[in-house]
Amino acid sequence: MVMFTQNPTLSSWKWQKITIPLLLSRRHSCSSSFSVRCSFSSSSSASSRVGPLRYAVLGAGFAGLSVVWNLLQHGSKESHLCVDIYDEVGIGGGASGVAGGLLHPYSPKVKLLWRGAECWKESLNLLNIAEGTLLELVNKGKHETVENGESPIVRRRGILRPAVNLKNMRMMTQNAQNCLANCRIEPVHEDAARYLVPNLSVPLNLAFYMPEALNINAQSYLQGLYLACENLVNEMSALGFAHRELNFHQKSVPSLLELTGDYDAVIICLGARATFLPELSGKLPLRTCRGVIANLQLGDDMSEEYPAHSPSILSDAWLAVQGARHIHVGSTWDWNSRNYSREVTADEASMAMEVLLPKASSVYPAIKKWTVTGAVAGLRAMPPVTADGSLPLLGCVDEYVNTTNACKYWLFAGLGARGLLFHGWLGKLLARAVLSRDEDLIPCELTSWKQKMGR
Ligand SMILES: Cc1cc2nc3c(=O)[nH]c(=O)nc-3n(C[C@H](O)[C@H](O)[C@H](O)COP(=O)(O)OP(=O)(O)OC[C@H]3O[C@@H](n4cnc5c(N)ncnc54)[C@H](O)[C@@H]3O)c2cc1C
Repeated sequence: MVMFTQNPTLSSWKWQKITIPLLLSRRHSCSSSFSVRCSFSSSSSASSRVGPLRYAVLGAGFAGLSVVWNLLQHGSKESHLCVDIYDEVGIGGGASGVAGGLLHPYSPKVKLLWRGAECWKESLNLLNIAEGTLLELVNKGKHETVENGESPIVRRRGILRPAVNLKNMRMMTQNAQNCLANCRIEPVHEDAARYLVPNLSVPLNLAFYMPEALNINAQSYLQGLYLACENLVNEMSALGFAHRELNFHQKSVPSLLELTGDYDAVIICLGARATFLPELSGKLPLRTCRGVIANLQLGDDMSEEYPAHSPSILSDAWLAVQGARHIHVGSTWDWNSRNYSREVTADEASMAMEVLLPKASSVYPAIKKWTVTGAVAGLRAMPPVTADGSLPLLGCVDEYVNTTNACKYWLFAGLGARGLLFHGWLGKLLARAVLSRDEDLIPCELTSWKQKMGR
Protein backbone atom coordinates (compact mmCIF):
# COMPACT_ATOMS: atom_id res chain seq x y z
CA MET A 1 0.00 0.00 0.00
CA VAL A 2 1.45 3.36 -1.00
CA MET A 3 0.94 6.18 1.46
CA PHE A 4 2.34 9.67 1.48
CA THR A 5 4.28 10.16 4.67
CA GLN A 6 3.36 13.81 5.11
CA ASN A 7 -0.20 13.75 3.82
CA PRO A 8 -1.86 10.45 4.55
CA THR A 9 -5.42 11.41 3.67
CA LEU A 10 -7.07 13.34 0.89
CA SER A 11 -8.44 15.98 3.22
CA SER A 12 -5.18 16.60 5.04
CA TRP A 13 -3.16 16.94 1.83
CA LYS A 14 -1.16 20.17 1.96
CA TRP A 15 -1.25 22.44 -1.07
CA GLN A 16 1.61 24.77 -1.80
CA LYS A 17 1.54 28.04 -3.63
CA ILE A 18 4.55 28.52 -5.88
CA THR A 19 5.47 31.83 -7.46
CA ILE A 20 8.30 32.64 -9.85
CA PRO A 21 9.33 36.02 -11.42
CA LEU A 22 7.45 36.96 -14.54
CA LEU A 23 7.54 38.13 -18.15
CA LEU A 24 4.56 38.94 -20.35
CA SER A 25 3.30 37.90 -23.74
CA ARG A 26 -0.04 36.91 -25.32
CA ARG A 27 -1.15 34.96 -28.33
CA HIS A 28 -4.44 35.66 -29.98
CA SER A 29 -5.75 33.30 -32.59
CA CYS A 30 -8.97 31.43 -32.78
CA SER A 31 -10.49 29.55 -35.63
CA SER A 32 -14.13 29.83 -36.63
CA SER A 33 -14.02 27.41 -39.51
CA PHE A 34 -17.57 26.20 -38.88
CA SER A 35 -20.39 27.44 -36.77
CA VAL A 36 -19.77 25.37 -33.65
CA ARG A 37 -16.10 26.33 -33.45
CA CYS A 38 -15.13 28.93 -30.88
CA SER A 39 -14.23 32.30 -32.34
CA PHE A 40 -12.03 34.88 -30.77
CA SER A 41 -12.96 38.55 -30.74
CA SER A 42 -10.25 41.08 -29.97
CA SER A 43 -12.77 43.26 -28.12
CA SER A 44 -13.40 40.59 -25.48
CA SER A 45 -12.61 41.75 -21.98
CA ALA A 46 -10.25 38.87 -21.10
CA SER A 47 -8.12 39.62 -24.12
CA SER A 48 -7.73 43.28 -23.26
CA ARG A 49 -6.74 42.61 -19.63
CA VAL A 50 -3.08 43.16 -18.91
CA GLY A 51 -1.46 40.55 -16.67
CA PRO A 52 -0.65 36.86 -16.55
CA LEU A 53 -2.56 34.27 -18.53
CA ARG A 54 -4.89 32.77 -15.95
CA TYR A 55 -6.52 29.38 -16.30
CA ALA A 56 -9.00 27.68 -13.99
CA VAL A 57 -9.13 23.90 -14.20
CA LEU A 58 -12.24 22.51 -12.51
CA GLY A 59 -11.68 18.97 -11.23
CA ALA A 60 -8.51 17.15 -10.21
CA GLY A 61 -9.10 13.71 -11.72
CA PHE A 62 -7.40 12.16 -14.76
CA ALA A 63 -8.82 14.82 -17.10
CA GLY A 64 -8.04 17.84 -14.92
CA LEU A 65 -4.49 16.89 -14.01
CA SER A 66 -3.60 15.97 -17.58
CA VAL A 67 -4.83 19.40 -18.70
CA VAL A 68 -2.85 21.10 -15.92
CA TRP A 69 0.36 19.25 -16.83
CA ASN A 70 -0.06 20.11 -20.50
CA LEU A 71 -0.95 23.77 -19.89
CA LEU A 72 2.23 24.17 -17.86
CA GLN A 73 4.26 22.18 -20.34
CA HIS A 74 3.04 23.80 -23.55
CA GLY A 75 2.51 27.41 -22.46
CA SER A 76 4.90 29.62 -24.35
CA LYS A 77 8.27 30.23 -22.74
CA GLU A 78 7.63 33.97 -22.58
CA SER A 79 4.13 33.79 -21.06
CA HIS A 80 3.48 34.40 -17.41
CA LEU A 81 1.04 31.61 -16.69
CA CYS A 82 -1.12 30.94 -13.65
CA VAL A 83 -3.14 27.73 -13.26
CA ASP A 84 -5.75 27.43 -10.50
CA ILE A 85 -7.18 23.96 -9.83
CA TYR A 86 -10.55 23.69 -8.09
CA ASP A 87 -11.74 20.44 -6.59
CA GLU A 88 -14.17 20.13 -3.72
CA VAL A 89 -12.67 16.87 -2.44
CA GLY A 90 -9.00 16.89 -3.38
CA ILE A 91 -6.81 15.09 -5.87
CA GLY A 92 -8.65 12.05 -7.23
CA GLY A 93 -11.84 12.87 -5.37
CA GLY A 94 -14.11 11.56 -8.15
CA ALA A 95 -14.22 8.46 -10.34
CA SER A 96 -10.48 8.64 -11.11
CA GLY A 97 -9.51 8.02 -7.50
CA VAL A 98 -11.45 4.73 -7.38
CA ALA A 99 -10.81 3.51 -10.95
CA GLY A 100 -9.81 -0.13 -11.30
CA GLY A 101 -6.59 1.02 -12.91
CA LEU A 102 -6.57 -1.34 -15.88
CA LEU A 103 -4.80 0.32 -18.81
CA HIS A 104 -4.56 -0.94 -22.41
CA PRO A 105 -5.74 0.49 -25.75
CA TYR A 106 -8.29 -2.20 -26.69
CA SER A 107 -12.06 -2.70 -26.68
CA PRO A 108 -13.64 -5.71 -24.91
CA LYS A 109 -13.33 -7.51 -28.27
CA VAL A 110 -9.60 -6.59 -28.23
CA LYS A 111 -10.02 -4.15 -31.13
CA LEU A 112 -7.62 -1.22 -31.16
CA LEU A 113 -9.60 1.82 -30.01
CA TRP A 114 -9.82 5.13 -31.91
CA ARG A 115 -6.36 6.73 -32.03
CA GLY A 116 -5.26 3.99 -29.65
CA ALA A 117 -1.57 4.42 -30.49
CA GLU A 118 -1.51 8.13 -29.58
CA CYS A 119 -3.60 7.58 -26.45
CA TRP A 120 -1.44 4.67 -25.29
CA LYS A 121 1.78 6.62 -25.87
CA GLU A 122 0.61 9.72 -23.96
CA SER A 123 -0.80 7.69 -21.06
CA LEU A 124 2.54 5.93 -20.70
CA ASN A 125 4.30 9.28 -20.86
CA LEU A 126 2.24 10.76 -17.99
CA LEU A 127 2.53 7.54 -16.06
CA ASN A 128 6.33 7.59 -16.33
CA ILE A 129 6.39 11.21 -15.22
CA ALA A 130 4.24 10.51 -12.16
CA GLU A 131 6.15 7.33 -11.34
CA GLY A 132 9.52 9.09 -11.67
CA THR A 133 8.34 11.80 -9.30
CA LEU A 134 7.27 9.35 -6.62
CA LEU A 135 10.41 7.21 -7.02
CA GLU A 136 12.52 10.31 -6.47
CA LEU A 137 10.67 10.88 -3.19
CA VAL A 138 11.19 7.24 -2.20
CA ASN A 139 14.92 7.58 -2.87
CA LYS A 140 15.07 10.73 -0.77
CA GLY A 141 13.30 8.92 2.05
CA LYS A 142 10.32 11.30 1.77
CA HIS A 143 7.88 8.65 0.65
CA GLU A 144 7.12 5.27 2.09
CA THR A 145 9.18 2.55 0.40
CA VAL A 146 7.34 -0.04 -1.61
CA GLU A 147 7.61 -3.78 -1.00
CA ASN A 148 10.04 -5.90 -3.07
CA GLY A 149 11.22 -3.01 -5.21
CA GLU A 150 7.74 -2.67 -6.78
CA SER A 151 6.71 0.58 -8.44
CA PRO A 152 4.69 2.89 -6.17
CA ILE A 153 2.15 3.23 -8.99
CA VAL A 154 2.17 0.43 -11.56
CA ARG A 155 1.93 -3.35 -11.47
CA ARG A 156 3.57 -4.59 -14.66
CA ARG A 157 2.37 -8.16 -15.15
CA GLY A 158 0.07 -7.68 -18.15
CA ILE A 159 -3.60 -8.57 -18.45
CA LEU A 160 -5.17 -11.85 -19.54
CA ARG A 161 -8.55 -12.00 -21.24
CA PRO A 162 -10.05 -15.49 -21.58
CA ALA A 163 -12.51 -15.83 -24.47
CA VAL A 164 -15.92 -16.57 -22.97
CA ASN A 165 -18.18 -16.08 -25.97
CA LEU A 166 -18.02 -18.40 -28.97
CA LYS A 167 -19.72 -15.81 -31.17
CA ASN A 168 -16.98 -13.21 -30.64
CA MET A 169 -14.01 -15.55 -30.68
CA ARG A 170 -13.20 -15.34 -34.39
CA MET A 171 -13.56 -11.56 -34.39
CA MET A 172 -11.29 -11.30 -31.34
CA THR A 173 -8.66 -13.42 -33.04
CA GLN A 174 -8.79 -11.13 -36.09
CA ASN A 175 -8.72 -7.96 -33.99
CA ALA A 176 -5.74 -9.23 -32.02
CA GLN A 177 -3.72 -9.35 -35.25
CA ASN A 178 -3.96 -5.55 -35.52
CA CYS A 179 -2.49 -4.89 -32.11
CA LEU A 180 0.16 -2.28 -31.40
CA ALA A 181 3.78 -3.40 -31.46
CA ASN A 182 4.29 -1.84 -28.01
CA CYS A 183 1.12 -3.34 -26.53
CA ARG A 184 0.98 -6.82 -27.98
CA ILE A 185 -1.93 -9.24 -27.86
CA GLU A 186 -0.87 -12.88 -27.86
CA PRO A 187 -3.56 -15.53 -28.35
CA VAL A 188 -2.73 -18.36 -25.92
CA HIS A 189 -4.30 -21.77 -25.38
CA GLU A 190 -5.43 -23.25 -22.11
CA ASP A 191 -2.07 -24.62 -20.94
CA ALA A 192 -0.21 -21.36 -21.55
CA ALA A 193 -3.05 -19.39 -19.95
CA ARG A 194 -2.94 -21.67 -16.88
CA TYR A 195 0.80 -21.26 -16.70
CA LEU A 196 0.20 -17.51 -16.44
CA VAL A 197 -2.67 -17.84 -13.95
CA PRO A 198 -2.84 -21.26 -12.25
CA ASN A 199 -6.39 -22.61 -11.94
CA LEU A 200 -7.76 -20.13 -14.46
CA SER A 201 -10.90 -21.32 -16.18
CA VAL A 202 -10.51 -21.08 -19.96
CA PRO A 203 -13.92 -22.31 -21.18
CA LEU A 204 -13.18 -21.99 -24.91
CA ASN A 205 -9.51 -23.04 -24.73
CA LEU A 206 -8.41 -19.57 -25.87
CA ALA A 207 -7.28 -16.45 -24.05
CA PHE A 208 -5.67 -13.19 -25.13
CA TYR A 209 -2.59 -12.12 -23.25
CA MET A 210 -1.51 -8.48 -23.27
CA PRO A 211 1.96 -8.60 -21.68
CA GLU A 212 2.50 -4.83 -21.74
CA ALA A 213 -0.95 -3.89 -20.38
CA LEU A 214 -0.83 -2.29 -16.95
CA ASN A 215 -2.55 -2.22 -13.63
CA ILE A 216 -2.31 1.18 -11.97
CA ASN A 217 -2.90 2.41 -8.46
CA ALA A 218 -5.02 5.35 -9.58
CA GLN A 219 -4.82 7.40 -6.40
CA SER A 220 -1.02 7.13 -6.18
CA TYR A 221 -0.75 7.96 -9.86
CA LEU A 222 -2.78 11.14 -9.43
CA GLN A 223 -0.77 12.20 -6.41
CA GLY A 224 2.44 11.60 -8.37
CA LEU A 225 1.12 13.58 -11.32
CA TYR A 226 0.13 16.52 -9.15
CA LEU A 227 3.57 16.57 -7.53
CA ALA A 228 5.13 16.38 -10.99
CA CYS A 229 3.14 19.50 -11.97
CA GLU A 230 4.51 21.29 -8.91
CA ASN A 231 8.04 20.21 -9.83
CA LEU A 232 7.54 21.32 -13.41
CA VAL A 233 6.70 24.82 -12.22
CA ASN A 234 10.00 24.98 -10.34
CA GLU A 235 12.04 23.38 -13.12
CA MET A 236 10.70 25.77 -15.74
CA SER A 237 11.81 28.70 -13.67
CA ALA A 238 15.33 27.26 -13.52
CA LEU A 239 15.24 26.84 -17.32
CA GLY A 240 14.48 30.54 -17.83
CA PHE A 241 10.75 30.26 -18.55
CA ALA A 242 8.54 33.16 -17.55
CA HIS A 243 6.69 33.01 -14.27
CA ARG A 244 4.56 29.88 -13.74
CA GLU A 245 2.15 29.55 -10.84
CA LEU A 246 0.07 26.60 -9.68
CA ASN A 247 -2.58 26.86 -6.98
CA PHE A 248 -4.96 24.28 -5.58
CA HIS A 249 -8.31 25.41 -4.15
CA GLN A 250 -10.26 22.81 -2.26
CA LYS A 251 -13.60 24.37 -3.09
CA SER A 252 -16.89 23.43 -4.65
CA VAL A 253 -17.86 25.23 -7.86
CA PRO A 254 -21.66 25.13 -7.85
CA SER A 255 -21.99 26.98 -11.15
CA LEU A 256 -19.65 28.44 -13.77
CA LEU A 257 -20.88 31.98 -13.29
CA GLU A 258 -20.21 31.77 -9.56
CA LEU A 259 -16.52 31.15 -10.20
CA THR A 260 -14.82 34.38 -9.33
CA GLY A 261 -11.47 35.37 -10.81
CA ASP A 262 -10.56 36.98 -14.09
CA TYR A 263 -9.70 33.86 -16.06
CA ASP A 264 -8.65 33.68 -19.69
CA ALA A 265 -10.13 30.22 -19.82
CA VAL A 266 -12.04 27.87 -17.55
CA ILE A 267 -11.62 24.17 -18.32
CA ILE A 268 -14.38 21.94 -17.01
CA CYS A 269 -13.04 18.53 -16.01
CA LEU A 270 -15.73 17.57 -13.52
CA GLY A 271 -16.35 14.05 -14.79
CA ALA A 272 -19.97 12.94 -14.49
CA ARG A 273 -20.71 16.00 -12.41
CA ALA A 274 -20.22 18.32 -15.37
CA THR A 275 -23.84 17.38 -16.08
CA PHE A 276 -24.84 18.78 -12.66
CA LEU A 277 -23.68 22.33 -13.49
CA PRO A 278 -26.72 24.52 -14.10
CA GLU A 279 -25.19 25.91 -17.30
CA LEU A 280 -24.63 22.44 -18.79
CA SER A 281 -27.44 20.45 -17.20
CA GLY A 282 -29.53 18.69 -19.87
CA LYS A 283 -27.26 19.97 -22.65
CA LEU A 284 -24.57 17.30 -22.79
CA PRO A 285 -25.06 13.90 -24.47
CA LEU A 286 -23.79 12.07 -21.40
CA ARG A 287 -25.33 9.32 -19.31
CA THR A 288 -24.17 8.76 -15.79
CA CYS A 289 -23.39 5.26 -14.58
CA ARG A 290 -22.36 4.28 -11.06
CA GLY A 291 -19.87 1.48 -10.60
CA VAL A 292 -18.95 -0.47 -7.46
CA ILE A 293 -15.60 -2.19 -6.94
CA ALA A 294 -15.15 -4.83 -4.24
CA ASN A 295 -11.98 -5.23 -2.26
CA LEU A 296 -11.12 -8.88 -1.61
CA GLN A 297 -8.45 -10.37 0.66
CA LEU A 298 -7.24 -13.89 1.17
CA GLY A 299 -7.86 -14.96 4.77
CA ASP A 300 -4.86 -15.74 7.03
CA ASP A 301 -5.83 -19.42 7.08
CA MET A 302 -5.72 -19.68 3.27
CA SER A 303 -2.47 -20.61 1.58
CA GLU A 304 -3.37 -20.42 -2.15
CA GLU A 305 -1.88 -16.98 -2.87
CA TYR A 306 -2.15 -15.22 -6.22
CA PRO A 307 1.26 -15.86 -7.85
CA ALA A 308 3.64 -12.91 -7.97
CA HIS A 309 4.20 -13.18 -11.75
CA SER A 310 0.53 -13.54 -12.71
CA PRO A 311 -1.35 -10.93 -14.76
CA SER A 312 -4.66 -9.31 -13.88
CA ILE A 313 -7.76 -10.78 -15.51
CA LEU A 314 -10.35 -9.18 -17.77
CA SER A 315 -13.68 -10.83 -18.38
CA ASP A 316 -17.33 -9.89 -17.84
CA ALA A 317 -15.93 -8.80 -14.49
CA TRP A 318 -12.30 -7.84 -14.01
CA LEU A 319 -9.82 -8.83 -11.32
CA ALA A 320 -7.19 -6.16 -10.74
CA VAL A 321 -4.47 -7.79 -8.69
CA GLN A 322 -2.99 -5.67 -5.91
CA GLY A 323 -0.74 -8.30 -4.37
CA ALA A 324 -0.53 -11.97 -3.45
CA ARG A 325 -3.47 -11.71 -1.04
CA HIS A 326 -5.32 -8.65 -2.29
CA ILE A 327 -7.52 -8.25 -5.39
CA HIS A 328 -10.04 -5.65 -6.58
CA VAL A 329 -13.04 -7.03 -8.44
CA GLY A 330 -15.21 -4.77 -10.58
CA SER A 331 -17.37 -3.39 -11.71
CA THR A 332 -21.12 -2.90 -11.64
CA TRP A 333 -23.09 -0.69 -14.06
CA ASP A 334 -25.93 1.24 -12.44
CA TRP A 335 -27.12 3.38 -15.34
CA ASN A 336 -28.54 6.87 -14.76
CA SER A 337 -27.58 6.90 -11.10
CA ARG A 338 -26.68 10.36 -9.82
CA ASN A 339 -25.01 9.01 -6.72
CA TYR A 340 -21.38 10.07 -6.89
CA SER A 341 -20.53 9.14 -3.30
CA ARG A 342 -17.51 6.92 -2.88
CA GLU A 343 -19.21 5.31 0.11
CA VAL A 344 -21.00 2.01 -0.45
CA THR A 345 -23.71 0.86 1.93
CA ALA A 346 -23.80 -2.75 3.13
CA ASP A 347 -26.87 -3.35 0.94
CA GLU A 348 -25.24 -1.89 -2.16
CA ALA A 349 -22.08 -3.93 -1.51
CA SER A 350 -23.96 -7.17 -1.16
CA MET A 351 -25.99 -6.48 -4.32
CA ALA A 352 -22.74 -5.72 -6.15
CA MET A 353 -21.21 -9.02 -5.00
CA GLU A 354 -24.27 -10.91 -6.26
CA VAL A 355 -23.46 -9.54 -9.70
CA LEU A 356 -19.66 -9.64 -9.58
CA LEU A 357 -18.91 -12.96 -7.90
CA PRO A 358 -20.51 -15.27 -10.51
CA LYS A 359 -18.74 -13.37 -13.29
CA ALA A 360 -15.36 -13.33 -11.56
CA SER A 361 -15.54 -16.96 -10.46
CA SER A 362 -16.47 -18.13 -13.96
CA VAL A 363 -12.87 -17.30 -14.99
CA TYR A 364 -11.10 -17.53 -11.62
CA PRO A 365 -13.05 -20.02 -9.45
CA ALA A 366 -10.67 -19.62 -6.49
CA ILE A 367 -11.99 -16.11 -5.91
CA LYS A 368 -14.91 -17.70 -4.03
CA LYS A 369 -12.47 -18.47 -1.20
CA TRP A 370 -11.47 -14.83 -0.82
CA THR A 371 -13.19 -12.51 1.66
CA VAL A 372 -14.83 -9.20 0.80
CA THR A 373 -13.28 -6.55 3.04
CA GLY A 374 -14.82 -3.40 1.57
CA ALA A 375 -16.16 -1.65 -1.49
CA VAL A 376 -15.87 1.75 -3.15
CA ALA A 377 -17.83 3.38 -5.94
CA GLY A 378 -17.64 6.13 -8.51
CA LEU A 379 -19.83 7.78 -11.12
CA ARG A 380 -18.82 7.45 -14.78
CA ALA A 381 -19.77 9.95 -17.49
CA MET A 382 -20.66 7.77 -20.47
CA PRO A 383 -20.59 9.38 -23.91
CA PRO A 384 -22.71 8.23 -26.86
CA VAL A 385 -21.47 5.48 -29.16
CA THR A 386 -20.28 6.83 -32.52
CA ALA A 387 -18.88 5.16 -35.63
CA ASP A 388 -15.46 5.59 -33.98
CA GLY A 389 -16.59 4.10 -30.68
CA SER A 390 -17.45 5.91 -27.43
CA LEU A 391 -15.41 9.10 -27.54
CA PRO A 392 -15.04 11.78 -24.87
CA LEU A 393 -16.57 15.22 -25.40
CA LEU A 394 -14.13 18.07 -25.92
CA GLY A 395 -14.50 21.62 -27.10
CA CYS A 396 -15.36 25.19 -26.35
CA VAL A 397 -18.73 25.59 -24.61
CA ASP A 398 -19.08 29.38 -24.54
CA GLU A 399 -22.45 29.06 -26.25
CA TYR A 400 -23.85 27.29 -23.17
CA VAL A 401 -22.66 29.97 -20.78
CA ASN A 402 -23.76 33.57 -20.75
CA THR A 403 -20.34 35.03 -21.52
CA THR A 404 -19.04 37.91 -23.56
CA ASN A 405 -15.55 36.38 -23.75
CA ALA A 406 -14.72 34.16 -26.70
CA CYS A 407 -12.95 30.81 -26.19
CA LYS A 408 -13.38 31.08 -22.45
CA TYR A 409 -15.20 27.92 -21.32
CA TRP A 410 -13.90 24.53 -22.42
CA LEU A 411 -15.18 21.04 -21.71
CA PHE A 412 -13.26 17.79 -21.23
CA ALA A 413 -15.78 15.16 -20.13
CA GLY A 414 -17.27 11.79 -21.01
CA LEU A 415 -14.16 9.69 -20.47
CA GLY A 416 -16.51 6.77 -19.87
CA ALA A 417 -14.83 3.62 -18.62
CA ARG A 418 -11.53 4.47 -20.37
CA GLY A 419 -10.31 7.55 -18.55
CA LEU A 420 -6.81 6.22 -18.07
CA LEU A 421 -6.35 5.63 -21.76
CA PHE A 422 -7.91 8.88 -23.00
CA HIS A 423 -6.74 11.45 -20.50
CA GLY A 424 -3.11 11.85 -21.60
CA TRP A 425 -3.44 12.55 -25.31
CA LEU A 426 -6.78 14.34 -25.10
CA GLY A 427 -5.54 16.50 -22.22
CA LYS A 428 -2.63 17.53 -24.41
CA LEU A 429 -4.89 18.36 -27.37
CA LEU A 430 -7.24 20.37 -25.21
CA ALA A 431 -4.48 22.29 -23.45
CA ARG A 432 -2.98 23.27 -26.81
CA ALA A 433 -6.38 24.39 -28.09
CA VAL A 434 -6.94 26.47 -24.94
CA LEU A 435 -3.49 28.05 -25.05
CA SER A 436 -3.83 29.04 -28.69
CA ARG A 437 -7.58 29.68 -28.43
CA ASP A 438 -8.08 27.50 -31.44
CA GLU A 439 -10.68 24.78 -31.27
CA ASP A 440 -9.55 23.46 -34.65
CA LEU A 441 -6.57 21.87 -32.90
CA ILE A 442 -9.00 19.27 -31.55
CA PRO A 443 -9.93 16.43 -33.94
CA CYS A 444 -13.52 16.90 -35.11
CA GLU A 445 -14.45 13.40 -33.88
CA LEU A 446 -14.19 14.83 -30.35
CA THR A 447 -16.13 18.04 -30.98
CA SER A 448 -18.82 16.77 -33.38
CA TRP A 449 -21.14 16.13 -30.41
CA LYS A 450 -21.84 19.88 -30.41
CA GLN A 451 -23.17 19.77 -33.97
CA LYS A 452 -25.37 16.85 -33.02
CA MET A 453 -26.69 18.88 -30.08
CA GLY A 454 -27.52 21.68 -32.56
CA ARG A 455 -24.68 23.94 -31.37
C1 LIG B 1 -15.92 1.73 -10.65
C2 LIG B 1 -15.12 2.33 -11.76
C3 LIG B 1 -14.03 1.64 -12.27
C4 LIG B 1 -13.26 2.20 -13.31
N1 LIG B 1 -12.18 1.52 -13.78
C5 LIG B 1 -11.44 2.05 -14.77
C6 LIG B 1 -10.29 1.39 -15.26
O1 LIG B 1 -9.91 0.32 -14.79
N2 LIG B 1 -9.59 1.98 -16.29
C7 LIG B 1 -9.97 3.16 -16.83
O2 LIG B 1 -9.32 3.66 -17.74
N3 LIG B 1 -11.05 3.83 -16.36
C8 LIG B 1 -11.79 3.30 -15.36
N4 LIG B 1 -12.89 3.95 -14.90
C9 LIG B 1 -13.29 5.19 -15.56
C10 LIG B 1 -12.50 6.36 -15.02
O3 LIG B 1 -12.54 6.34 -13.63
C11 LIG B 1 -13.11 7.66 -15.55
O4 LIG B 1 -13.12 7.64 -16.96
C12 LIG B 1 -12.28 8.85 -15.11
O5 LIG B 1 -12.06 8.81 -13.74
C13 LIG B 1 -12.93 10.17 -15.46
O6 LIG B 1 -12.03 11.17 -15.06
P1 LIG B 1 -12.47 12.68 -14.92
O7 LIG B 1 -11.26 13.44 -14.55
O8 LIG B 1 -13.21 13.08 -16.15
O9 LIG B 1 -13.56 12.71 -13.75
P2 LIG B 1 -13.40 12.50 -12.16
O10 LIG B 1 -12.30 11.60 -11.84
O11 LIG B 1 -14.75 12.14 -11.66
O12 LIG B 1 -12.96 13.93 -11.64
C14 LIG B 1 -13.85 14.98 -11.41
C15 LIG B 1 -13.33 15.77 -10.22
O13 LIG B 1 -14.16 16.94 -10.10
C16 LIG B 1 -14.46 17.15 -8.73
N5 LIG B 1 -15.75 17.87 -8.71
C17 LIG B 1 -16.94 17.43 -9.19
N6 LIG B 1 -17.88 18.37 -9.08
C18 LIG B 1 -17.27 19.45 -8.53
C19 LIG B 1 -17.69 20.78 -8.20
N7 LIG B 1 -18.96 21.18 -8.42
N8 LIG B 1 -16.80 21.64 -7.67
C20 LIG B 1 -15.50 21.27 -7.46
N9 LIG B 1 -15.06 20.03 -7.75
C21 LIG B 1 -15.93 19.14 -8.29
C22 LIG B 1 -14.53 15.78 -8.10
O14 LIG B 1 -14.22 15.85 -6.72
C23 LIG B 1 -13.45 15.02 -8.91
O15 LIG B 1 -12.19 15.03 -8.25
C24 LIG B 1 -13.65 3.44 -13.86
C25 LIG B 1 -14.74 4.14 -13.32
C26 LIG B 1 -15.46 3.59 -12.28
C27 LIG B 1 -16.62 4.36 -11.70
